[in-house]
Amino acid sequence: MNSGSGQSCGAVIVLSGPSGVGKSTICKQILERVENVYLSISTTTRMKKIGEQDGVDYFFVSRDEFEKQKKAGNFLEYAEVFGNFYGTPRDKLEKALNEGKTVLLEIDVQGAQQVKKIIPDARMIFILPPEHKELKNRITGRGRDDEQDVKKRLAGADAEIAASEFFDYKVVNDKLENAVEEVLQIIKKEIGE
Ligand code: 5GP
Repeated sequence: MNSGSGQSCGAVIVLSGPSGVGKSTICKQILERVENVYLSISTTTRMKKIGEQDGVDYFFVSRDEFEKQKKAGNFLEYAEVFGNFYGTPRDKLEKALNEGKTVLLEIDVQGAQQVKKIIPDARMIFILPPEHKELKNRITGRGRDDEQDVKKRLAGADAEIAASEFFDYKVVNDKLENAVEEVLQIIKKEIGE
């Protein structure tokens, strides 16, 4: 597979879907169950939340720093989501691909569309919530976001779900174990395991 700017041989798998749908949890479980996978750590301008670690969950940077990195061409893709910027660091992704790793990107729909243009071979998985109410419970239940943030995230979810047509696979996260298993099978099929 080619990352658009260099030689590479690993596969790129994009996991997208509305905020709160369980993408991060699914990705973490995939990491434990498939060898040779690199989960991309994004750079973001959003504030670090309780329990998050710099360099583990995200690289937390200022807007100025993000802008600088953007201008330098450091991001494979970037997008503004809920008023904050998020970008996929290009260098780490290319390094992992060159090492033959499977790269997992957990990003929003706008970013997913950009990746598909740059890396047409990328396989796109969309995670769907069982229903809107359940999504609201999850976003509220994790107690991480304030009321305004919850509203923004729910409104964004509708738009994201409408864009899901563009994906290769759709997985409904009604039961976590089932969704993880489904994503696992898709990845194994795609990387030829
Ligand atoms: P959160 O603030 O909940 O961690 O992330 C908000 C949204 O931004 C999620 O839908 C997440 O998938 C997305 N996101 C995280 N990193 C990136 C990235 O590097 N690029 C893009 N386009 N979206 C991202």
